[in-house]
Amino acid sequence: MNREQPVTSTVGHLIDGKIVSDAARTQPIFNPATGQINGHVALASKATVEQAIASAERAFPEWRNTPPLKRARVMSRLKTLLEENADQIAQLITAEHGKVLNDAQGELQRGIENVEYASYAPELLKGEHSRNAGPGIDSWAEHQALGVTAGITPFNFPAMVPLWMWPMAVACGNTFVLKPSERDPSSALFIAELALQAGLPPGVLNVVNGDKEAVDTLLHDTRVKAVSFVGSTPIAEYIYSEGCKAGKRVQALGGAKNHAVVMPDADVANAVTAMMGAAYGSCGERCMAVPLIVCVGDEVADKMLAGLKTEIAKMKVGPGTDNSNDMGPLVTKPHFEKVKGYVDQGVAEGAELLIDGRGLKVPGHEDGYFLGPCLFDHVKPGMRIYQEEIFGPVLGIVRVKTLDEGMKLINDHEYGNGTCIFTRDGEAARYFTDHIQVGMVGVNVPLPVPVAYHSFGGWKRSLFGDLHAYGPDAVRFYTKRKTITQRWPSAGVREGAMFSFPSSR
Ligand code: NAD
Repeated sequence: MNREQPVTSTVGHLIDGKIVSDAARTQPIFNPATGQINGHVALASKATVEQAIASAERAFPEWRNTPPLKRARVMSRLKTLLEENADQIAQLITAEHGKVLNDAQGELQRGIENVEYASYAPELLKGEHSRNAGPGIDSWAEHQALGVTAGITPFNFPAMVPLWMWPMAVACGNTFVLKPSERDPSSALFIAELALQAGLPPGVLNVVNGDKEAVDTLLHDTRVKAVSFVGSTPIAEYIYSEGCKAGKRVQALGGAKNHAVVMPDADVANAVTAMMGAAYGSCGERCMAVPLIVCVGDEVADKMLAGLKTEIAKMKVGPGTDNSNDMGPLVTKPHFEKVKGYVDQGVAEGAELLIDGRGLKVPGHEDGYFLGPCLFDHVKPGMRIYQEEIFGPVLGIVRVKTLDEGMKLINDHEYGNGTCIFTRDGEAARYFTDHIQVGMVGVNVPLPVPVAYHSFGGWKRSLFGDLHAYGPDAVRFYTKRKTITQRWPSAGVREGAMFSFPSSR
């Protein structure tokens, strides 16, 4: 399969185990490496989304009563199918998102680890039990499924982020309606078809492609009990407030502006190579990407810049289908224009542009959305390139005098998704991890993305809601706790009427 060739079909929806389409409204899907239309995606109407919700509602009673071990076995089979189809999934991701194939494989692998975690469902759902909570009284807590749940996902991890959500939701006994990003919808739909092959009954997972109309239907329909969202902060805030108003449980993960602190005692060579991947990997289109390096002291800033300039000069930018490239194109033309606009803005605001990727041309791919790596020095708080999420290959150096000054910048920033510190000083690292107001923190680890058996989430305006995504928090999010207290009266424990509150006194 050569996915650089245009595909003419329309990507539809998966409802009740069948692929269906909405012919009335469609939108083109572009190949970011060529600027050509790759195909179209159907945009679900309210009525189509309601069909998907109805299908999920019908499937719920039987799925809820399916033993967790049987649900888990579906996840184990899905893991095998995902591994067997990894090359094809990576090609679908690269064709629509643009990221380099190896990086697409990496994203899929992290998604597979969530499926693997979901296959531990029987263990995770065991609950808690107390014998003799009172005389002859046993008490236990169960995690009961919610019903129909929904997920709305962003373009930047089209396979992984859906896999953060629905495998745990369905392993916990819920049914699910997924609304992937309309910019790169094919991999999520393909994976949902694999789930059917793995034995997931029709209706347990439905996929609707679409835009605001589909999202608003999911948000307002009272049959949907919980919504997981990952995307930009303004939309996350909207999803959270609308979903909560409609009485739903909502977790809405938003945008980011992650800072890395480099201390004067850091291993600079290691920090430079770590920052190259963190800033420019996936063209900076990662919510855990690091677009700002806070250097403590001018000496370390100058050393970092020298190292970064050398490494950037070696970078290869080109189509993601060629694994020898380090970076592919940005996702769409409007996004390319937006990121380029931020570089213009940074120059206008007085930051010093040391490396300018705006003129990059990739031979044979002149219409692709390629922007070369950009590097700024003297980025300062208050500049738009400091405050706002750029989501592109634009790295800025911020110079501070002390660790406390750097930490204050991070703590004052509206986002709090990820951060890291590069140092050889254990005391500084411990102080940093203890006091920094950010949800995911690395020590000499640039992208501290929690593994599948921990949970993922930022603080401040990077997450609206209480529970983080996947891992142990997903069990809490996708289940309701029910606590049962039971006694079987017998001659020994039979009591008369009691009017004072029972206690263990
Ligand atoms: P986005 O907010 O534009 O879109 C996300 C989803 O919301 C899509 O499915 C889209 O169809 C839907 N949507 C968009 N506009 C809407 C509207 N007005 N009403 C209702 N629904 C709407 O985000 P994106 O550009 O696809 O993804 C990039 C963003 O996601 C970045 O801000 C990035 O930081 C963030 N992100 C965050 C995390 C995290 O874990 N915190 C992970 C990945 C991406």
